[in-house]
Amino acid sequence: MRYCSTRDRGQTVNGCQAIIRGVSAEGGLFVPTAFPRLDRADFRRLAELSYVELAAEILSLYLPELSEVLPSACAQAYAPEKFGAVQPVRLRNLGGRRTVLELWHGPTLAFKDMALQLMPHLLTRSLEAERDGRDALILTATSGDTGKAALEGFSDVPGVEVAVFYPARGVGEVPRLQMATHPARNTHVFAVDGNFDDTQTGVKRIFADPELAALAAGRGAFLSSANSINIGRLLPQVVYYLYAYLELLRTGALTEEEAFRIAVPTGNFGNILAAWYAARMGVPVCRLLCASNQNHILTDFFATGRYDLHRDFHKTLSPSMDILISSNLERLLFELLDRDDATCADLMAQLADGRQYSLPERALSVAGRFSGHWAGDAETTATIGRVFAQEGYCIDPHTAVAFSAADALPEQGVATLIVSTASPFKFPAAVLGGLGLPASADEFDNIDRLSRKIGAPVPQSLAALRHAVIRFDQVYTQGQMRSAVADLLSHRTGRS
Ligand SMILES: *Cc1c(COP(=O)(O)O)cnc(C)c1O
Repeated sequence: MRYCSTRDRGQTVNGCQAIIRGVSAEGGLFVPTAFPRLDRADFRRLAELSYVELAAEILSLYLPELSEVLPSACAQAYAPEKFGAVQPVRLRNLGGRRTVLELWHGPTLAFKDMALQLMPHLLTRSLEAERDGRDALILTATSGDTGKAALEGFSDVPGVEVAVFYPARGVGEVPRLQMATHPARNTHVFAVDGNFDDTQTGVKRIFADPELAALAAGRGAFLSSANSINIGRLLPQVVYYLYAYLELLRTGALTEEEAFRIAVPTGNFGNILAAWYAARMGVPVCRLLCASNQNHILTDFFATGRYDLHRDFHKTLSPSMDILISSNLERLLFELLDRDDATCADLMAQLADGRQYSLPERALSVAGRFSGHWAGDAETTATIGRVFAQEGYCIDPHTAVAFSAADALPEQGVATLIVSTASPFKFPAAVLGGLGLPASADEFDNIDRLSRKIGAPVPQSLAALRHAVIRFDQVYTQGQMRSAVADLLSHRTGRS
């Protein structure tokens, strides 16, 4: 299996090299040059496998260089101690042929664990396979969920250090504490004075800084990202869509003759792109519902073919979807354009220079399998209340956005898989609002109230957070981000 850049398909690399590099030299994203196809006989065979076995099989198709180490890597990543059960994801059938795919049973209570528990193994095994002895300094800008998931995933991984930057005023109290109290010695957390875009811009500048790259190289290290533009984060996400399909068949929620819809709460377009990759592999998906909040640039894009950044940024109840530049959309564009790298590069340049682009006519029809829908905060809150009243099932605000899309765009008789990306306990104040209960200024009170209301225990990791020791409490200016990274590199003692 080879990978090419969305902006230059002539040069290809293997999967290990794509994971190590993160982005290609001209700034494009790595994509597989072909999608492995599975047929009915394959699905019947795969249906016998556990999640861990399935993950190792599917990922071996994409990363054959790692096929020998994948079984143990997947077993470590999705260990029952981390996900609370042998199968790391769970499905729940609801009325109206709706099935929820719960992806938040990992250590940080959000779906990013599904990729970030495995990605460190993929990175270190790729370095071994490539006989690349360098150490990695992972840099990540986060508005919450990615940061903690990266800290968890990379904790105590030999040869890797992690630096997470988050906007001091742009994350919730629970995610802030989750990061600021993270104990592992190879992890570093920086609050940045600014919003998420400022933070992300600061991190991008660090990646583009030749002096820092030279400093890293001089110390036998390199800078790498845990953001979802790395193919090593995307591939593990394809697995749960295959697993969900096999479970739908196994439980009788779907027949082999049927196709189904998938509704995905979308921010950076990674999760829904993984669903589309699964469809390319043969999972019978008839529609992909791209669900957005008030930052509905993707809804507009799928309605008009025009991606237009001239708009205000809104802070919403679903903060992990408060994104205007959905980086992974570039990977879909490349496919919609029938792998025309020059046009893809041109559209991305238009976006960078003029803050907008329009899809050529020929690509528009291919995008037809996607439908966009957005829900504002009021609709999100109402959906949380409605789903709880109708189903006795409590959902977080991100998941509620996907429910809104599924219910607003009904298709008679078609089964729908609704992707649930966070535990309701991660966003307790918003969930209480949806359930018609007052929220307190203290998030831990809210967590307790929610637990009583829905009759579910407080997840252990959150209960422990209340008394955890704060390790990082300094706020850095944007200008100080660079020197913080330079310090980390200078103090490196190398691999022991
Ligand atoms: C990251 C995140 C999303 C958005 O996922 P993308 O892959 O960026 O589209 C949705 N919900 C939650 C809870 C998240 O953490």
